[in-house]
Amino acid sequence: MGLLQNKRALIVGVVNDYSIAYGIAKCMQREDAQIALTYQNEKVKGRVENIAKEIGSKIIFPCDLAYDDQIDDLFVSLQKHWDKFDILVHSVAFAPGDQLEGSYAHHVTREGSRIAHDISSYSFAALTRASIPMMSGRNGALLTISHIGAEKALMNYNIMGPAKASLEANVRYLANSLGQEGIRVNAISAGPIRTLASSAVGGIGEMIRHVEEIAPLKRTVTQLEVGNTAAFLCSDLSSGITGQVIYVDAGYEIMGM
Ligand code: NAD
Repeated sequence: MGLLQNKRALIVGVVNDYSIAYGIAKCMQREDAQIALTYQNEKVKGRVENIAKEIGSKIIFPCDLAYDDQIDDLFVSLQKHWDKFDILVHSVAFAPGDQLEGSYAHHVTREGSRIAHDISSYSFAALTRASIPMMSGRNGALLTISHIGAEKALMNYNIMGPAKASLEANVRYLANSLGQEGIRVNAISAGPIRTLASSAVGGIGEMIRHVEEIAPLKRTVTQLEVGNTAAFLCSDLSSGITGQVIYVDAGYEIMGM
């Protein structure tokens, strides 16, 4: 019997088979979860439909998290398939390209900051709020994906650093407000992995080489390693863990000199 038998998971953030959310979906499927997916727009719909087929899911909806009405529609549509569900995965981030290179202080703009915080942090709170009525009474688990740039200054990551710091604060505040309803909220801070989103930040190759040199495990991590931890954090085996940011980064975060 899988870790997630009889659990239903809504996974937001698959765009292709490099996505961290794809690794999470594969691991959750292996652990017997039923899965629903979303896609951001028509351009990526076909790819996400193929992934839905691959993991045996027939439940797939559009949702651009920049729009409240699309978030509302997502849950109206989901309710036609599931009366309740157990797991929400938010594996989404975005900042305009001009904010992801060069000196932070010289490039940051009000609009760039607004978009980065809206899509990469607030959207987790928005999805959480919309999920509550369908998650009550189920030992629900919510999960998002963060980055060490929330804590440390990195080259090119720029406005995504403050946005991820906000996301991690969201995890703690949401965990505190939902604990009494038996709903847990956690984050995984993942090591560098080559994906569409990470390629938008200059120097992902250099970042991976740096982690391979410095991290105790002398390598970076895979989508499936993040997925395995995600499956654990959304299963009843982790019932005592909430409000945490768990590093899945081959140990890189512990290193000083
Ligand atoms: P990815 O490009 O595969 O996934 C990013 C997802 O965000 C895509 O599915 C995209 O459609 C979605 N998205 C962006 N804007 C959206 C919007 N307005 N509405 C709905 N969806 C939207 O890249 P990934 O690396 O798998 O990123 C997933 C998460 O992992 C992000 O939060 C990212 O910051 C985080 N992360 C990535 C790494 C890495 O090195 N790849 C490391 C740590 C954390």
